Amino acid sequence: MSFRRTVEDFTCQNCGTLNHGDGYTNHCSRCLHSKHVDVAPGDRDAQCQGLMVPVDVQVERGRRVLVHRCARCGVERRCRTSDEDDVAVMNEIMRTKATRFMTGG
Ligand SMILES: [Zn+2]
Ligand SMILES: [Zn+2]
Repeated sequence: MSFRRTVEDFTCQNCGTLNHGDGYTNHCSRCLHSKHVDVAPGDRDAQCQGLMVPVDVQVERGRRVLVHRCARCGVERRCRTSDEDDVAVMNEIMRTKATRFMTGG
C-alpha cells in the first residue's frame, strides 16, 4: 500500500481559508495553493513545508489535474482536483499560461 489516506483540516498558507480535508486533496479549494508536505503522496514526510503554487491545469480523461510547483525547492507535483475547487481560479491559471505561451515569455 503506497497511499495512506490522511484526513485533516488545514488553514491555507496563501489566503488563510480554513479547508476541511477529505483525505484526497490537500490544496486550498479557494486559491488552489498547497503545501509541500509529502515525499510520496499521503506520507506527510517532506521536510520542505514550502508553498506549492498552482502553475498549470491539465485535463486527463475528462478530469482536471492541477500541477503544483514548490516555491521553496521547485519540485512539481500533480494532484487531482475536487468538486470543491474553484473553477474560476483554474480557468485563470490556464489563461495565464496560454498568455505566457503566446507572448513567448
Ligand atoms: Zn488558499
Ligand atoms: Zn518543496
